Amino acid sequence: MKKYAASIEMYIGPMFSGKSTSLRNKMAELMDNAKFAEDGPSYYRFTLEKVESPKLSTWQTHGGVEIEGALINSFSQIKCYTKHLLIDEIQFAFYHCEDDKETETEIFNEIIEGKHVYLAGLNLDWKDVPFQTTGYFTCIADKVNILQSRCHRCGKPAQFTEKITQSQNRFDEKAQYLPICRNCRVQIISVESMQQTSV
Ligand SMILES: [Zn+2]
Repeated sequence: MKKYAASIEMYIGPMFSGKSTSLRNKMAELMDNAKFAEDGPSYYRFTLEKVESPKLSTWQTHGGVEIEGALINSFSQIKCYTKHLLIDEIQFAFYHCEDDKETETEIFNEIIEGKHVYLAGLNLDWKDVPFQTTGYFTCIADKVNILQSRCHRCGKPAQFTEKITQSQNRFDEKAQYLPICRNCRVQIISVESMQQTSV
């Protein structure tokens, strides 16, 4: 018998588009409306840092809002006893268990049975390559909120992410990123390719 979530809602976008803040607002709304403890939300966040067990942490969104939750590396680390489950940085969901995505997906399906699930994730990496994990959860979601940021170069709506730090790693939580619009992105790429061909 297949297992299903009561609902899955996604928040996707580039850096600084308010993904974590949207989850934080949803969490506050759920806490306000919860009559019993089990009606409340449970908050988890995937991290590249290795954690043997869920690590309780407090951190700030880019908008400066404080969030409390548990840092995790896999779905098997989630112990959710509430009806609402919120998970941030979903693009890193399979980072530590790349070889066993199937089992992890099964575990996810067991955890979310009958729950309202809210997921937030980055759409593209800094080379404009889509995160497959974000894509997968977007495809199975009932509702998808596509968020935009403001381009740090021209101020127009931005859906891409520019890496400011000079490292080439695809996954790098410590690197500095900024949102960028399509026009500015295309201009940077054409300048870079001109520089490469002139070398
Ligand atoms: Zn721009």
